[in-house]
Amino acid sequence: MLWSGWENDVFGSFLGGGGGFPYVYAVLMFAWYQVLQSYSHPFFMYLERNFGPVASGPVLAWLTHMVFYHLHSGIYAILDNYDGPWTKKKVSRFDKMTYSQMLPNVVKNQTIFLVSGVASAFATDFRGWKRGSIPFSEITWSEMAYEAITMYLMYEFIFYWNHRILHITDLRLFGRKYNLYAMFHKEHHSTYASVGVSGLYMGSIDCVLTQTLPQVIAPALFNYHPMTLWLFSLVGSMNAVHTHSGFDFPGMSPPHGHELHHSRYKVNYGTGLFDRLCGTKLDEEEVVRENFGLGGRLRKDLEAKKTK
Ligand SMILES: [Zn+2]
Ligand SMILES: [Zn+2]
Repeated sequence: MLWSGWENDVFGSFLGGGGGFPYVYAVLMFAWYQVLQSYSHPFFMYLERNFGPVASGPVLAWLTHMVFYHLHSGIYAILDNYDGPWTKKKVSRFDKMTYSQMLPNVVKNQTIFLVSGVASAFATDFRGWKRGSIPFSEITWSEMAYEAITMYLMYEFIFYWNHRILHITDLRLFGRKYNLYAMFHKEHHSTYASVGVSGLYMGSIDCVLTQTLPQVIAPALFNYHPMTLWLFSLVGSMNAVHTHSGFDFPGMSPPHGHELHHSRYKVNYGTGLFDRLCGTKLDEEEVVRENFGLGGRLRKDLEAKKTK
């Protein structure tokens, strides 16, 4: 049923995911919103006056992403290296590559973020970023909610379709066949979503199509206040790390959905909404994990075998 689990997908898979209300993300978002309301406007204006709109715009937003992403994936790298109460929450550990082996590729992709963020700011004459001169306390809740919801919808739409196209398309040009998955997306699937930092481990074209474009198109198109991207950088960075970490912590998005994408390929392309709409959602309940290794076995296949 389309509607069953709907709310869980929008507020769940994106912010938390299928395993109850993602209260850790909600609390952090609320705290981050308060910090931004109190301190970010004077800081934004200081940067703009002294270093120009590139520093206060795309560079500052990129720095917030860098801090959240590396803080979160760094903590998970420590948790992966030492045993403790968290170890029994590690539900998947199929990756052979380590944190430090993946890190250079991730930093290369984050450099692409920075360059494309700056390029898109110039290309759109700093649309959105210019609204940063409005004090953040003057942005109403309804404006904020409108921007956050449309940002999510646009992000999900572009991410889902670019990602799905990379999985299912064979381009035929001049009598030759080009498999987009093999050319651009295979590198990300050489990891199994069990090391947090692997969230951004991928090829450069993959990074532009599935990471950069979903983030730069909506803010420029809808003239978002920088606050939207600042808020988004917290949950976007954390969710990318967490869904690739193999940790199933309460109050955070369960990692199973994206692990199923890494092991079964043509399911769970997005953060939930478009997978539901387009029939590509595979729920954890449909999978039996016990002793079946990566990706488990589909419950319906096991039941069909039994009735034979
Ligand atoms: Zn992934
Ligand atoms: Zn994929």
